[in-house]
Amino acid sequence: MRRKLAAGNWKMNGLRAALSELEALAPTLAGEAEVLICPPATLISAACETAPDGLAIGGQDCHPKDSGAHTGDISAEMLKDAGASHVILGHSERRDDHGESDADVRAKCAAAWAAGLTVVLCCGESLTQREAQDTLDIIGGQLAGSVPDGATGHNLVIAYEPIWAIGTGLIPTLDQIGEVHDFIRMRLERRFGAGVGRSVRILYGGSVKPGNAAEIFGVSNVDGALVGGASLTAADFRPIVEAL
Ligand code: 13P
Repeated sequence: MRRKLAAGNWKMNGLRAALSELEALAPTLAGEAEVLICPPATLISAACETAPDGLAIGGQDCHPKDSGAHTGDISAEMLKDAGASHVILGHSERRDDHGESDADVRAKCAAAWAAGLTVVLCCGESLTQREAQDTLDIIGGQLAGSVPDGATGHNLVIAYEPIWAIGTGLIPTLDQIGEVHDFIRMRLERRFGAGVGRSVRILYGGSVKPGNAAEIFGVSNVDGALVGGASLTAADFRPIVEAL
């Protein structure tokens, strides 16, 4: 069975004072769900030191190369060395802000796997693409282009994040979420075989809040959530973890 996963993406938020939120997540860690927080890179080492037992810490991006003249970038090995176990890759904000292509994400994913990190790989359509009924084509293309060969249920988690639902308070209908998650499952099984395809977890992301988490988690093939704003405080994130 797939272990449920509640992942928090702090994005460009969080000073050292925010680390106290990690300690406040301790009561949720006794449950069956895996809990992951991805703070900004500046806090990863300190987060790994202060995180209660059982709370995983991850990065939000990595460079495809191991080292070299890439000012401002961070390698997968550096994340691992800082104590991270996971890395988010291909988030729509990176695809937009930094022009990351599927090929870029694929190369980063291969580097993350080589460093022993579990990748939370994001895909999702824009509102224009959804309105043009291109959603499944877009998701299928992103999966084919961004995920390298060699995926397993341990090294890969997919996050479906419709761009128009991120930070907007809008979410797709439960049927729409189910349609995309079922489609992702089918594509994973077709490419990697039923065993691997069924073991990769698929998260939903985009305006997940304490008030809507339970109904989203009831949708087929939703194995958890990738949460932005509501992961910044333990008060908001705890009820989401507990809804899993
Ligand atoms: P929000 O939960 O703030 O909508 O962000 C979702 C997201 O982008 C997580 O990666």
